[in-house]
Amino acid sequence: MPELPEVETTVRDLRPHLIGRTITRARVTWERSVAQPSAKEFTREIVGYKIAEINRRGKYLVFGLERATTEDERRRAKEQRADYQTNRPSDHPTKFLLVHLRMTGQFGFHEPRVKRDKHQHVHLLLDDGRELRFHDFRKFGRWWLVDNPEHVVGKLGPEPLEMSKREFLKRLRARRGRLKSLLLDQTFVAGVGNIYADESLWYAKIHPLRDATTLTDNEASDLYNAIRRVFKKAIGVGGTSFDATYKRINGQSGEFQEDLRVVGRAGEPCYRCGTPVVKTVVGQRGTYYCPTCQTLK
Ligand SMILES: [Zn+2]
Repeated sequence: MPELPEVETTVRDLRPHLIGRTITRARVTWERSVAQPSAKEFTREIVGYKIAEINRRGKYLVFGLERATTEDERRRAKEQRADYQTNRPSDHPTKFLLVHLRMTGQFGFHEPRVKRDKHQHVHLLLDDGRELRFHDFRKFGRWWLVDNPEHVVGKLGPEPLEMSKREFLKRLRARRGRLKSLLLDQTFVAGVGNIYADESLWYAKIHPLRDATTLTDNEASDLYNAIRRVFKKAIGVGGTSFDATYKRINGQSGEFQEDLRVVGRAGEPCYRCGTPVVKTVVGQRGTYYCPTCQTLK
């Protein structure tokens, strides 16, 4: 399941393919893939927009769209100076496309004449003749076409790689409850999912069931550092590919699965102390930790 590093990798992989491309036709073959507006309105509205930028917020991809203007239109606007002042093409996105991959969403580029497979649910034809297709086996992925991205991502907590330690501590002190669940709460910090929560807690030597209120300042500081360390390293190697649910645009796998310290290692010796790693369930999520390094105080 894609988390922050996998979404960041997807954004970086998509940029050279999509920046500057105009969408010339859209088709939705599973209507619920589009959360807003209706699938019908979506296919009508998005045509003619140029992709100006691609960014990430938490686990969302955020495409900034501009109305495409042809060279002719630009030239005519320049000739009519007065008009140019009022009608100049916007330097800023005027519409936003947001995509959440959820469990199995993936992008791929295809020749339009290549037959669609039944797991491809959104299809955008581009002005370079290729088709961007959204492949989503489990169908939980969602697309939004909105004027203001805050309508979709406004409630997310800060980005872990952009927040200060001070801000992290302040936010932590305002919360209670099990740390594992808190880390997965996207309103606390954006982008942390199941894998990176467990890995961060292992590095910080904190038990996943510890209550947030029991952390010392030093432990909280260790956790802050651990989250950032894990994310930076994972982004550097293209994320984690456990199975076919996450692959890079070029079909390659990420490489962070080689660096996992506890996730997927139940019964194997802890890399720090040799104690067998334990798997348990916290809030219905499989959770890995070392019972010696990460004790419940
Ligand atoms: Zn250990």
